[in-house]
Amino acid sequence: MNRNALPLEAKISVRRALLAHYDAHKRDLPWRGESDPYRILVSEVMLQQTRVETVLSYYGAWLGRFPDLETLAAADEDEVLQAWEGLGYYRRARNLHRTAQVVRERPARTLPSTYAELRELPGLGEYTAGAVASIAFGETVAAPDGNVRRVLARLFDEPDPKPAWTRATASGLVDPARPGDWNQALMELGATVCTPRSPRCGGCPVVPWCASHAGGTQEDRPAPARRSAPRRVLFALAVLHCAGRVLLVRRPPEGLLGGMWAFPEAEVADAAASESAARAMLLTTHRALCDAPERLSTREHRFTHLHATYYPYLFHVEVEGSLAFDADELAWVDLATPGGVALPVAQRRILESAREHLVGSAV
Ligand code: SF4
Repeated sequence: MNRNALPLEAKISVRRALLAHYDAHKRDLPWRGESDPYRILVSEVMLQQTRVETVLSYYGAWLGRFPDLETLAAADEDEVLQAWEGLGYYRRARNLHRTAQVVRERPARTLPSTYAELRELPGLGEYTAGAVASIAFGETVAAPDGNVRRVLARLFDEPDPKPAWTRATASGLVDPARPGDWNQALMELGATVCTPRSPRCGGCPVVPWCASHAGGTQEDRPAPARRSAPRRVLFALAVLHCAGRVLLVRRPPEGLLGGMWAFPEAEVADAAASESAARAMLLTTHRALCDAPERLSTREHRFTHLHATYYPYLFHVEVEGSLAFDADELAWVDLATPGGVALPVAQRRILESAREHLVGSAV
């Protein structure tokens, strides 16, 4: 059997059945029925690797702050990262910002309307460009995300759906009359019915054509990927405190948490090495020594491929500034109101624990 194609008649029936199901059962989400390409782009970028429930609490606020590409392009990167704070995968925010700036230089100052041109924009991969091209501009192009990959693997009983297979299969199924709705319907099916575990085949509109349901293999499709365990990394953090303010430094633009603000940190081999590493940072930033820094609570944070443990140490310094960082790389922020800087979740918790510690010590 050809594992990625249906006879034309079956294909038409599958499209009809899935779109009818989508029309009747689609979730009421703020970006449904949206026609503004920028708003569609924002929703699709936010939805990458992020749950709908999480995106719901950011989408409206983002559009309130950056209602159009012009406003986003003119914004400061710190403001952009701050609006994204807590959503994770901060590269997405920086790419959206860059995209707005690229579009500002285009003669029409609008998003391009074809898949091929959208792919040229920063961070717009196959999925996002396909989603925007089909939903906003009606182009007959697929948007193969993880949900689509799973649904297709089951529909065609494909144990190992490689990217080329998923792309070809998804492209062959797009309904030319309603490409945007089709892509959303497929994603919606994967999110609500054909879920990773325990797919609800009894309520599935495409069950008559589903090869894995017929063969009873739906729980095994696609075969689970072998994932390597996240790498464990340990960091010593120096929380330098001066009269109610703490020192933050900007992380390099590329790499983990690029462009975000954080406490000075150093990777260490084990917990026992963390205090001396933190003291070494104090020596570097202030040419100062400290025999007994105050230890704040250890924090754990999981990234996709990384499990980070932070050992923060609180030091009191007499003066602000730093001998180790240039002015545009550092910020002394008020512990009580650290506005204006985008902080990763773990660092914000450490900042809060430093504040609580100082308030507690003052009592
Ligand atoms: S019949 Fe079951 S396995 Fe097949 S697509 Fe529908 S929910 Fe998924």
